[in-house]
Amino acid sequence: MIPVVDGHNDALLRVWRSGGSLRDRSENGQLDLPRMREGGIAAGFFAIFVPATDERPDFSTLMRRTAEGYDIPLDTPLPAERGVRIAAELAAIFARDLKPVLTVSDLERCVAGEEIGAILHLEGAEPIAPDLGNLESWRELGMRSLGLAWSRPNAFACGVSFRYPGTADTGPGLTAAGRALVRACNELGVMLDLSHLTEAGFADVARLSDAPLVVTHTAAHALAPIPRNLTDAQLDAVRDSGGLVGAFFDRTMTHPRAEIEADTPLDVLLDHIEHLAGRMGVEHVALGSDYDGCTPIAAVGDASKVQTLLEGLAARGWPDDDLRALGHRNWLRVLRATWH
Ligand SMILES: [Zn+2]
Repeated sequence: MIPVVDGHNDALLRVWRSGGSLRDRSENGQLDLPRMREGGIAAGFFAIFVPATDERPDFSTLMRRTAEGYDIPLDTPLPAERGVRIAAELAAIFARDLKPVLTVSDLERCVAGEEIGAILHLEGAEPIAPDLGNLESWRELGMRSLGLAWSRPNAFACGVSFRYPGTADTGPGLTAAGRALVRACNELGVMLDLSHLTEAGFADVARLSDAPLVVTHTAAHALAPIPRNLTDAQLDAVRDSGGLVGAFFDRTMTHPRAEIEADTPLDVLLDHIEHLAGRMGVEHVALGSDYDGCTPIAAVGDASKVQTLLEGLAARGWPDDDLRALGHRNWLRVLRATWH
């Protein structure tokens, strides 16, 4: 098996909603430690994401039909109190169930097979105070990765809505607080994740940040033209910074028309990965499943099945060396340059 570092999962949110432990193999959801072990996932980014409501939202009631497709309006801003309170509850699950990866050496030990590691990621900066007063305490808690915004506006940045077709040119870039947050994360050695950002926000981070650009879970806009996916020009910016893009496994957002819950074959995901590698070079591509935050393509339907994807690329002629770059080596390079 080729060890995989996975760029994004929402397993903490699943356990927060439905109980249980990530240490046990669950009948629900897609990712837990036993299934990571079976699939060769050596470490993963575990998102702390605070949803607007305690129950799962029903996208079918929110979706608006448009002439060419559909649009799901942006969520409203999250109340500050809810962001802080629920982020702490998710962080407690992380501390209870997982082994934190704090340094590149920790991650190297995971890739060598010693243990399964977890990188604490904040998906949406709402739990951070706008004056950044608690940013360092989040880092002390183990946070090593921060996504400025999810698909809603906050004090720092604005995310994109889910629509087909569309680009990420849908809203403003970073606020003054957002620009300060980028600089502070650079100084503290916290990785910034550009997933979910508007095109203007992406460009602001590209201009301001001195770290390699990272988009942990996305796909190619050229193959599936929705705002969440990266245009070729954005891929070029990631490549030029020395960064990487994690390909997600979502069956809707990889589908050429973003059909909700489409029966998307694995080959479509492999096409996305090959587009990313063709545009940027294989040293800038990684995996970011989005397990427990999406409905994955059936062939990679849970964490135990990740090697199926690597076998698919091998069948397309990918040499072992490239598969190791995709699986973990690119992450090690980028995090070495970021986590100083
Ligand atoms: Zn996400």
